[in-house]
Amino acid sequence: MNKVYLLLGSNAGNRKDFINSAIRQLISKGCICIAMSSFYETAAWGKEDQPDFLNLVICIETSLSPTELLNLNQEIEKSAGRQHTEKWAQRTLDIDILFYNNDIIDLPDLKVPHPFLQDRRFTLIPLAEIAPGLIHPGFKKTVVQLLAECPDKLEVRKT
Ligand code: AMP
Repeated sequence: MNKVYLLLGSNAGNRKDFINSAIRQLISKGCICIAMSSFYETAAWGKEDQPDFLNLVICIETSLSPTELLNLNQEIEKSAGRQHTEKWAQRTLDIDILFYNNDIIDLPDLKVPHPFLQDRRFTLIPLAEIAPGLIHPGFKKTVVQLLAECPDKLEVRKT
């Protein structure tokens, strides 16, 4: 079994329902959810003229390969009505693979650890809630250290 951390986010429609439904779909495909952070609300990052995001991080165990998991996540995003339009546009559901075991993956369509993980408080804060001591295999720093060094100033509120 592989241990994977996922960031789920939504800033359109019933945000909590989209995220909860995505978790149920992952479980129905055999993923075992072993930890879940609280929900957090954040102003949209990168493109600020849009509704606030709701985010959480889950830890799952899965037998899916990284690419199989990416494909499943994209199917789940599609089932939530997500359309891949412009970068950082409003979205019903976004699922990012943050960590996959201790692996460093550099494929054209999949980079793990997620390349922006260390830049975003809305990722690091929920991650720190469930895995504060987890070590980033590239930077060799814990999630708590990355959070302390993160230059992002956006407010992240626990809901
Ligand atoms: P986004 O618009 O943030 O959902 O980005 C989606 C694109 O990022 C997809 O085409 C993925 O192939 C690519 N991608 C690269 N690395 C990752 C990752 N670690 N998790 C999710 N998507 C990724």
